[in-house]
Amino acid sequence: MIGNIYTANLNRIEFVITNTCTGRCKHCSEGDHAGSGPHIDPEIAAGVVREVSGSCRIESVMTFGGEPMLYPEAVYAIHAAAAELGIPKRQLITNGYFTKDAARIKAAAEQLLRCRVNDILLSADAFHQETIPLEPVKRFAAELLALGLPLRMNPAWLVSKTHDNLCNNRTREILAEFEAMGIAANGGNVIFPEGNALKYFGDYFESGAVYINPYEEDPADLRTLSIDPDGSALGGNVYKTNVLMLLNQYHP
Ligand code: SF4
Repeated sequence: MIGNIYTANLNRIEFVITNTCTGRCKHCSEGDHAGSGPHIDPEIAAGVVREVSGSCRIESVMTFGGEPMLYPEAVYAIHAAAAELGIPKRQLITNGYFTKDAARIKAAAEQLLRCRVNDILLSADAFHQETIPLEPVKRFAAELLALGLPLRMNPAWLVSKTHDNLCNNRTREILAEFEAMGIAANGGNVIFPEGNALKYFGDYFESGAVYINPYEEDPADLRTLSIDPDGSALGGNVYKTNVLMLLNQYHP
């Protein structure tokens, strides 16, 4: 039980496995990605899931990046711990491109089955496919499908899902290729003016308009514990301080 009113309603844990990425997307809210950098330690991350869910009613755990499958051991350890604890929603967001090697792609899909991830969101669209080849992504998707893993396409849209522009039209073509494989898309998300998105697509955003960041939380009623690749969280670091202590000490 957390005795802190600011974190008492926590119900989700998100891990940014790494900021390193195989993509260089122009719409990336993270800005330009470094070619290398820290990544989450698998054992410590799994320990965080166990400790926090012993004190809070955690309903979902998400792993993303950068490209999380560049450090798959962390992804497997986190989701295996979440599955053991009975956390209902166990999500992975990936661009699907971490190798071109068919055997490694197949092995990764099998490990995801073993660690019981139950919602895989595959980010593919005009923006990702400017720098990410489609073939290895489709191969990965096919391996996941063959194992019966739940998979949805998770595209990014410019202005809106229905807006007619070159990027959205290319995204529709890419999604059609996955649909032909039997993979449907979710609603995706509309690009938020931040980082590279603002740099490259600034013309599409109205100047003076106020855009609500869909990922922003009420700092006085945190629902999500977000952990960075170097262990940073809640103004501290889970590598140095017990995560329950961080949750108890947190002040907005
Ligand atoms: S794949 Fe995702 S994290 Fe990587 S550059 Fe593209 S938007 Fe950013």
